[in-house]
Amino acid sequence: MYFSDSDGLEAARDQLVSYSARLLDDGLAVGSAGNMSVRLGDAVAITPSGVSYAELRPEDICLVAADGTQPGPGTQPGSGPRPGPGTEPGRGSQETPSSETPMHLAIYAATRAAAVVHTHSPEVVALSAARTELPAIHYAITGLGGPVRVAPYVRFGSAGLAEAAVQALDGRSAVILRNHGAVTYGRDLAQAYERALLLEWLARTYRLALSYGEPAILSAAELDEVTAESRRRRYGERRTPDGAP
Ligand SMILES: [Zn+2]
Repeated sequence: MYFSDSDGLEAARDQLVSYSARLLDDGLAVGSAGNMSVRLGDAVAITPSGVSYAELRPEDICLVAADGTQPGPGTQPGSGPRPGPGTEPGRGSQETPSSETPMHLAIYAATRAAAVVHTHSPEVVALSAARTELPAIHYAITGLGGPVRVAPYVRFGSAGLAEAAVQALDGRSAVILRNHGAVTYGRDLAQAYERALLLEWLARTYRLALSYGEPAILSAAELDEVTAESRRRRYGERRTPDGAP
């Protein structure tokens, strides 16, 4: 096939299962909603469609080609068997990849993402139905690249949704999908997941601020200053002997 690093694949499968369990524990999704993936060279390991996170096993994680070609047997998004409850023996690597596989692949193609997390977290979904942007009421939003845009509503699993998400991600590592959920990406699954938690916290904090009245919003200059200072401190910490960051 198009992927041969079985160690990397095994680690990615374990990681995806472990973070999927956290999705439920952290309240970022219910049942089998939401999905996540990790890029492995020219392949992408992605959670399957319709399998409850509580029952997800490493062998259920699907592998698809990053460029959307060469879908292996049982890896065609939106097709193939959808096992219902009690079909345990039929499960395995033949699961159908997440219905949002096109959106994950589009994000890998357009960004430097190494992992993508898609949630249906409640604060973000509530905001998505009422606002066009999550404004900067806290400087931590610079960790997502700035105020987070709400992409227009397009049906789940569609190429249109993938396109809308990528457009709204411009210069950001997070996007909110109207009447749907959110997507974050990062240099690894841990960072993408932390960003999903941060996004949900920021949405909650914004809602709380609105309950007091009209919140003060940080200006672009104030956010730039935070970004510059964070970068300066990070470079100080990570400086290698040859001076490279
Ligand atoms: Zn979704």
